[in-house]
Order: sequence, then C-alpha cells, then structure tokens
Amino acid sequence: MHDGNASSNKPKAARRRPAQRHEVQRVRERASYDRTTVHAILDAAFLAHVGFVVEGQPFVIPMLYARDGDTLLLHGSVASRLQQALAGGIECCVSVTHVDGLVLARSHFHHSVNYRSAVVFGRAHALTDHAAKAAALDRFVEAMLPGRAADARAPDAQELAATSVLVMEIADASAKVRAHGVKDHPDDLTLPVWAGVVPMHTTFGAPIADPDHPNGAGVPAYLESLLAAAAARS
Ligand SMILES: Cc1cc2nc3c(=O)[nH]c(=O)nc-3n(C[C@H](O)[C@H](O)[C@H](O)COP(=O)(O)OP(=O)(O)OC[C@H]3O[C@@H](n4cnc5c(N)ncnc54)[C@H](O)[C@@H]3O)c2cc1C
Repeated sequence: MHDGNASSNKPKAARRRPAQRHEVQRVRERASYDRTTVHAILDAAFLAHVGFVVEGQPFVIPMLYARDGDTLLLHGSVASRLQQALAGGIECCVSVTHVDGLVLARSHFHHSVNYRSAVVFGRAHALTDHAAKAAALDRFVEAMLPGRAADARAPDAQELAATSVLVMEIADASAKVRAHGVKDHPDDLTLPVWAGVVPMHTTFGAPIADPDHPNGAGVPAYLESLLAAAAARS
C-alpha cells in the first residue's frame, strides 16, 4: 500500500528552496491549501490528534475540538499537561482524517484508501473570560450534535473554573484528498481479481436511553435528524 505511483518513489532532484512545514510533498495534486477546503474537512469531524513537544518529548493526544472561524477550540481539565503546555504558547500540530473508502486494487502495491485529511499548525492561548469559555463549550456540544447545546444544561461557574479552553490560531494549514477509483498498473488490468472502491461511512446504532435515571424525555428531534442523515448515507 502506498500513496502514489511507483515512479514517484524515485528520489527527487534537489529542491530550489526548503519546503514550508505545511507543504505536501507526495502526490501534490491531492493537496489543497485554501481554507475553505481545510475548514470543510475540520467541520465534518470533532475528533483530532494534537501533537506537541514538551522538553524534547513528542506527544500526540486524541481529543475533541470545534472550529471557530480560523481557530480551533480545545478543552480539557485545567490540570491537563496538554492544556498547560499549549497555554504557554508552544507550537502545536493538529491532524484530522476521514476514511471514505477502501480502494482494492489488483496488486498489493496499489491498494489504498479514499480519504480527506487536514493538518494545521499554530499556537494556542487560554480563554480566561467565563462567558467566552461557556460559548466555546457550547460550540463543542454543537460540533458533536447540532441542536444539543440549547437542550442540555450549560456549565456553571465551578465547571467553568475546572475547565481549560484553548484557542489555537491556525497559522498554516493543508488538506489532502483522495477521491477516485483504482489506479492499477496496466500489466495487471487483466488479472482475474475483483477491483474497485468500497465506500465507508460513519453510522450510529439505535439510541439507548439512560436506564438508571429514566425521565420520560423522548429522543429529541435533532438526534432523529442526525440518525436519519446517517442512515441515508449508508
Ligand atoms: C475520542 C477521545 C476524545 C477525547 N477528548 C478529550 C477532550 O476533548 N479533552 C481532553 O482533555 N481530553 C480528551 N480525551 C482524553 C485525552 O486523550 C487525554 O487522555 C486527556 O487529555 C488526559 O490528559 P493528561 O494530561 O492526563 O494526559 P497526559 O499527561 O498528556 O498523558 C500522559 C500519558 O498518558 C497516555 N495517554 C493520555 N491520553 C491517552 C489516550 N487517550 N489514550 C492512550 N493513552 C493516553 C500517553 O502515554 C501520555 O503520554 C479524549 C480521548 C479520546 C479517546
């Protein structure tokens, strides 16, 4: 499995200038740097992997996020190492990926996946204002399930004090998208092997109401909408 064709694995000639940190090097035609594309990939997920270095040690931590304009909001405990390190203004890198399909080729070499991914770089600062933190937490809930924030209780002062909210300014960003079929070697096209794309989608099971504290509340309309949209994609 790989990310391109065999000929592009050959060493490149010396470059005229050093690549920028967000410049895609391999299969460049799949890259995009416009913020509209990057934002669309970010908006279609709420789980990111956040990379940062503390005292020479790299960490990559999975966590929720929400986009707000050209920033990413990250939240966690005020005691969290990540929250404390990033609040100090160190560089960080956030990656988000969607796998959209299996690409099954006639050779091992040309197996691949269809995907949309974004990698963004920048520095963060911590929000201190309680109203701004509450608004950010509202966005987190909305990123997970649109319509939910107005339904569930908003955080109180104690919860806000215990929660760190970071705003990461997106300084540099790249998107990379593969969205096409099998690219087999011409010599392999007559092999008697099934080849093609198997689409992949996120799906949901039937909601399970909290059995310990039944309150008679029905499944809300915004959740029904999410489930219906997911079912329509499958
Ligand atoms: C889907 C998902 C969403 C999450 N969303 C959030 C969020 O929005 N905010 C938030 O603060 N946290 C979130 N977490 C938890 C997050 O990944 C960290 O575990 C958490 O931030 C604890 O940080 P810490 O400061 O205790 O860990 P650190 O002190 O930074 O970590 C210490 C070590 O613990 C291990 N570790 C930490 N987290 C994980 C992990 N998730 N899996 C495996 N090993 C781990 C690593 O080896 C790490 O080096 C999420 C986790 C998942 C899987």
